[in-house]
Amino acid sequence: MFLELKNLTAEFNGFKAVDKINMVIEKGETRVIIGPNGAGKTTVIDMLTGKTKPADGEILLEGNNLAGKTPYEISDKYKIGRKFQGPNVFDNMTVYENLEVALSGHNKLLQTFFFRRTSTIKKRIYNILEKINLVTQKEMLPCFLSHGQRQWLEMGMILAQDPDIITLDEPAAGMTDDETYKTGEMIKEIMHDKTVIVVEHDMDFIKQIAKTVTVLNQGKILAEGTYDEISHNPEVIKVYLKT
Ligand code: ADP
Repeated sequence: MFLELKNLTAEFNGFKAVDKINMVIEKGETRVIIGPNGAGKTTVIDMLTGKTKPADGEILLEGNNLAGKTPYEISDKYKIGRKFQGPNVFDNMTVYENLEVALSGHNKLLQTFFFRRTSTIKKRIYNILEKINLVTQKEMLPCFLSHGQRQWLEMGMILAQDPDIITLDEPAAGMTDDETYKTGEMIKEIMHDKTVIVVEHDMDFIKQIAKTVTVLNQGKILAEGTYDEISHNPEVIKVYLKT
């Protein structure tokens, strides 16, 4: 088993934001977590990435319990990357330089000027630029990119760090329909060898990327299944109509 959440629980002042959830995520899978506001989706990602310490339960990655480990340990040692809602890029650096920094971030050798200029590094950066559709924009500062392109740049920066698991919190938020579709294709293409956990609302986008959807409601798992199963589940429909 690759990633298993066992009775995972988060508590804030006695309030159970996530209440004994169990999930199994296979290696290479793209899992989408949906649910109304306040369902506990972000808290699950916060626990997975070390931002919130679970009150109870386990996060087992190939048998290692990550519950309570620091965000640094989780990203560096266990290779879980995170993309927050909204872009987090260096505004005073070009698209290319942003990727260069991300690429050298986890490797001391690559941080030296000499290694950054080698053709291997250039090749890797161009490879990522192609994957995120930003080759023509490589010399631009992020402020000249569209909202969607800035999000793609951040996806590229996460890819540069070569994580095994990528968590994305509403990657399509604020995007145009065209950008949303392209983001879905990007996730399918460039992250095909990664395990991806996505929190998302946009149903067309979910349909485009997910094999399995987990529905959270009030801190508990309400349903889990394919997009078709979930979208026809009367319990799920009821919860969404109420909000
Ligand atoms: P979602 O992402 O599904 O909208 P969240 O995980 O953000 O839901 O929140 C789940 C519940 O936990 C909400 O009721 C929220 O108010 C509460 N919560 C989340 N983080 C904190 C926190 N740091 N302190 C107190 N309550 C929190």
